[in-house]
Amino acid sequence: MLPLETKAAVTGLAVPLLVKLAGLPELAEGHYPLERMALDMRSVPRRAVTSELLDLPWSAFVDAQDAMNAPLDRWLSHARSSGRPVAMLQGDSAIAKPGDVLELDPFRQRAAVRYRRGDNGNVLFATERCNSYCLMCSQPPRQVEDDWRVQHLCELVELIDGTEPSLAISGGEPTLLGGGLATVVAKCSEHLPDTHLHVLSNGRLLGDTALADRFEGLHPHLTWGIPLYGDHYALHDYVVQSEGAFSQTLRGLYALEAAKQRIEIRVVLVKPSLERLEALIRFILRNLPFVEHVALMGIEPIGFAKAHHAALWADPADYAEQLQGAVDALSRLGVAVSLYNLPLCTIPESLWPLARQSISNWKNDYLDACASCAVKHRCSGFFSWVTPQWTSRAVKPIELGPEAA
Ligand code: SF4
Repeated sequence: MLPLETKAAVTGLAVPLLVKLAGLPELAEGHYPLERMALDMRSVPRRAVTSELLDLPWSAFVDAQDAMNAPLDRWLSHARSSGRPVAMLQGDSAIAKPGDVLELDPFRQRAAVRYRRGDNGNVLFATERCNSYCLMCSQPPRQVEDDWRVQHLCELVELIDGTEPSLAISGGEPTLLGGGLATVVAKCSEHLPDTHLHVLSNGRLLGDTALADRFEGLHPHLTWGIPLYGDHYALHDYVVQSEGAFSQTLRGLYALEAAKQRIEIRVVLVKPSLERLEALIRFILRNLPFVEHVALMGIEPIGFAKAHHAALWADPADYAEQLQGAVDALSRLGVAVSLYNLPLCTIPESLWPLARQSISNWKNDYLDACASCAVKHRCSGFFSWVTPQWTSRAVKPIELGPEAA
């Protein structure tokens, strides 16, 4: 697990600043204005540190905290005398590298990674607010005014690599930004037209067709991940702890279909939904035939989930049959299926080809038992905060037979 922020001695800044961290290759590529880039002194050979390099209009300079004690910090006094911001990072140097986007915060004296080059789980965090209170919410909502994030995200998007394969837009509930969400997607269309965007939304506000229609044709690679936890309103509304959510989400799904959007249904495999998984899959196939993809997902054991273990947890070893049945029913009708957050040793081998390494690098870990496992390189592993209470009894290293070796 590689943290997404670190302590930093930040000087020369009055307000937080978003910067593209740059070494000499980023300077040479010239993709971003120098005024939006911070020179990463850790990546520049000291012989290349010339006053001409330092005098370029960098927005800031970044180095390691221990460089402050080095006798070769001529650049530091040069940078400070020019009045430009300097951030001296503490902790693992891998937390931030050239190509990443950092937010330097002078109030908290921290540097936060808002985009990590090469990471599989970069997220545009849309809002802390939500209109549902799902039993297993991993990111409990806060009712704060954060519409400022629209502008912030637009500035962030301008600094993300144009070659980035995929980004999620998540929260909270992103549609609470209203037209602001469309503004962010439009910004992605301008700067990241080849990036696959995946909006994770409960879909409840998209029944307002005026909102859903704003996304028609807005980005060439936009998909929506919408959760559905039951074939019956009472079950779905119970899991999301919000009366009326089932019918609102269905209206949202039909409005998205009318706006020619690509849709994935997400089912977190919590105990109440598992008990009616077969009926839920039948409901999706009959009523939502336009759905392209269904993701069946293990629980992330953090946030509200921790308070609801008894109500939510089911060991994958105990639901192999339901899982196989769901996959078979979807596959028969040509709906793509993926399994997220389910370690390979906990599911039947016939389902391994559908299991994805779905956990973002920064919160992904393996157990001691995994050290000798022959399939660790293609297993999702675990969320870093997994505890024995949330671990399947089936976890054990896989040994491949001679024919597979
Ligand atoms: S032992 Fe660990 S790495 Fe191997 S399949 Fe199980 S969880 Fe995955």
